[in-house]
Amino acid sequence: MKKTFFALTLFCIIVLSACAAPKPDMVIFDSEDIPQKATEKSMHADIVNPCQTYSYEQMLIDSKRLTETYPDLIAAENIGESVEGRELLLIKLGKGEKNVLLAGAHHAREYISSTFLMEVIDEYARCYETDNDFGDYDIKSLLDDVTVYIVPMVNPDGVNLVQNGLEAVKDPEKIMSMNMLKDSFSEWKANINGVDLNRQYPCHWDEKRSNTDVPSSEMYKGTAPATEPEVQAMMALCQENDFLLAASFHTKGEVIYWADSGTQNSIEASSSIAQTMSDVTGYDLMPVSEDAAVYGAGFENWFRQEFSRPGFCVELTPTGNGAVPHDDAEFESLIWDKTRYLVAELINQALGIRK
Ligand SMILES: [Zn+2]
Repeated sequence: MKKTFFALTLFCIIVLSACAAPKPDMVIFDSEDIPQKATEKSMHADIVNPCQTYSYEQMLIDSKRLTETYPDLIAAENIGESVEGRELLLIKLGKGEKNVLLAGAHHAREYISSTFLMEVIDEYARCYETDNDFGDYDIKSLLDDVTVYIVPMVNPDGVNLVQNGLEAVKDPEKIMSMNMLKDSFSEWKANINGVDLNRQYPCHWDEKRSNTDVPSSEMYKGTAPATEPEVQAMMALCQENDFLLAASFHTKGEVIYWADSGTQNSIEASSSIAQTMSDVTGYDLMPVSEDAAVYGAGFENWFRQEFSRPGFCVELTPTGNGAVPHDDAEFESLIWDKTRYLVAELINQALGIRK
């Protein structure tokens, strides 16, 4: 009986003291402190899943999660609208005052270049937060000095057609009236007006040769340079910002285009930067593009001509990898195994460019 009474008293004391108001100097764990490990884990969990058919909608979802997870490091904004009214998303990664520009999916069927850029954002942000080295690169130090402007999907309407077919576009009849240079919509390259966006920039546009002069699934350069809203948005972005260098990502070939005869002599840094890009990826460097009828009107060619700064075109994925457009589940072996350090090296190289 005595024992029971003692136990009951002890129980009451414990309960009462637990309910009592805490003293000011007591250490109180609030909900943000207690699950420290869990928070850390979710902070650094993968946000982007690159082994999927990477859609415009998925990109917007991931962009929101990335900016929410890394609010001090990542910002997103809209730089314009596509023909069908989709947002032309710009993601800024980093805190530096020096800027570089990366762009993906000028060509619709090459949307795995969007996947690549989103994976770069996800992985580099994680390295920044944990202050872990990434190979030989100190991502925190690089992103403290440089902000990487990334337009992952220049051509969202074309990507939508490739992934979701004719019934997903606003005006299927207009598409049906266009010249199909390949058999299926999954091989579409142009924007939804049938204009090839990488044949649209005002750089030797008149000389640019094409085998079609009507709106087509690919190759058509339009009635004049810069008629398309996607190209206009990219040009305005470049004109409003002082980019030290720019790189545009395509597929296929595992090669790097780094110079054309029109600008080769005016951009000193290109050659050595291209060599480091090749060293870090194993990709081959293409010869200097000599014929404006071939290289004209491309984004990187226009960028070089306009700003006298290095501009690169990187062809991701091996040639002859079969699947059309490519096998998304094989992202690691098709792209990431060779290119995970490429953007870190580009940032590193940008720091050496004199203004
Ligand atoms: Zn391309």
